[in-house]
Amino acid sequence: MNKPISNSQPAIELGDNEKAMKLVAEMLAGNIVDIRPEFDFTSELGFTYPAAEQVLAVKGEEVVSILESLADKGILRRGFFDRLLRCPQCRSVNLRPTTYCPKCGSGNIARGRVFEHFVCKYIGLEDEFIAKGRYICPKCGQELRTIGSDYQSLGLMRKCRDCDEVFNIPLIKWRCLKCSSLTAEDRVTEVNIYSYSFNEAKRGWLEFELKPKLQLIEFLKQRGYEVKENAEVKGRSGAKHSIDILATRDDGIITYNIAIGVKVAGDEIGLGEIFDFDDKAYDIGIHDKILIVVPGLGKEAESFASLQRIKVLEVKDLETVLAGGMPKPSQEVKREPFEFKSKSKLIEYLKRQGYEVKENAEVKGRSGAAHNIDILATRDDGIMTHHIAIGIEVAGEPVGLDKVFDFDDKAYDIGILNKVFIAVPGLTKEARQFAQRQKIKVFEVKELEALG
Ligand SMILES: [Zn+2]
Ligand SMILES: [Zn+2]
Ligand SMILES: [Zn+2]
Repeated sequence: MNKPISNSQPAIELGDNEKAMKLVAEMLAGNIVDIRPEFDFTSELGFTYPAAEQVLAVKGEEVVSILESLADKGILRRGFFDRLLRCPQCRSVNLRPTTYCPKCGSGNIARGRVFEHFVCKYIGLEDEFIAKGRYICPKCGQELRTIGSDYQSLGLMRKCRDCDEVFNIPLIKWRCLKCSSLTAEDRVTEVNIYSYSFNEAKRGWLEFELKPKLQLIEFLKQRGYEVKENAEVKGRSGAKHSIDILATRDDGIITYNIAIGVKVAGDEIGLGEIFDFDDKAYDIGIHDKILIVVPGLGKEAESFASLQRIKVLEVKDLETVLAGGMPKPSQEVKREPFEFKSKSKLIEYLKRQGYEVKENAEVKGRSGAAHNIDILATRDDGIMTHHIAIGIEVAGEPVGLDKVFDFDDKAYDIGILNKVFIAVPGLTKEARQFAQRQKIKVFEVKELEALG
């Protein structure tokens, strides 16, 4: 995990486009309450979302796909509005139903009152029986006399003029008025159209995503961090973890990785979520941990976070951090490759990088013992204070395990995790292996330029 991580991602994951963000911002501000469709059969889809189109500056399918992606993310809520039929050939919604005989498929059908003559069993439309102001059966020529006794009315039905079939329900096909194709009822495309409203449950999260998060990322970048959102990192356990914001800065001596977790909940955030975050950071070997919480932490979670050295920022704390403004000129340092030449040059280098440097620092450890650290460098970059313990060992032969072990022990006792060990003229093999395992950054130097 010492490799700087490049290629920062787009700032936000809201349908990964700025247009969607703009629409969400308008809804958050209350400028748009509901996004309702309006029918417009001259448009490509047959309906439009005028309010959304205006903000998004796109039309048709593009608007629908943005709205749908926001709905999929739970930011918008769908409400059923209507169902439209669409021509499967040309997608037009300009369809007209046409009726056909269910027996022979002819379109030559008539609708009207239908009579049945009991005497000859003839069934026909009322029109067929009318002759000279009376009802005469067209089949047997007898006059119909009393309804219910020698004939009956079957009610309003349809009769095929080609095959004489009498039926209630005709076959329906849809004629497309745009491309003229005819589509069977079960082949026509049905489209539900929705209105969309803002999901208030997402307000807290969105308010963070849309402003402080972007500002935080900018803040980190100004301070020389490379920033990756939703970074996928493989842990020592082999598991893959996603870190909300991973900030990496290589200042020549130490590469810093900060894992930033964002927890936005409706209620206070519990211990379980803090534990998850801490666990991930541990697995990927990151000890600089920041947790941004909206609204706040429960008592138990708070004490756990402080025990695990997780810096917890509520949005108001974050605003204070961000108000720190642009980095001071001394913090805006160009990266220069570090090469150890002498202790005094190292100190100059650290100061140029914005570190406060203490030589032969006396530090009291957790055990109560006082330790002497050759160089203790401290740098507060506005969001995180980094301490580096530097041990320097100059000897006539490769420096052995015992010296590195002592140094590691001291650093552990005083709780410093960024460890640099400079060995002149180098390390023994065991010492080097130990240093690697303990994540001590080692500079093995052949000889000193001058006595430093
Ligand atoms: Zn008859
Ligand atoms: Zn027919
Ligand atoms: Zn069509």
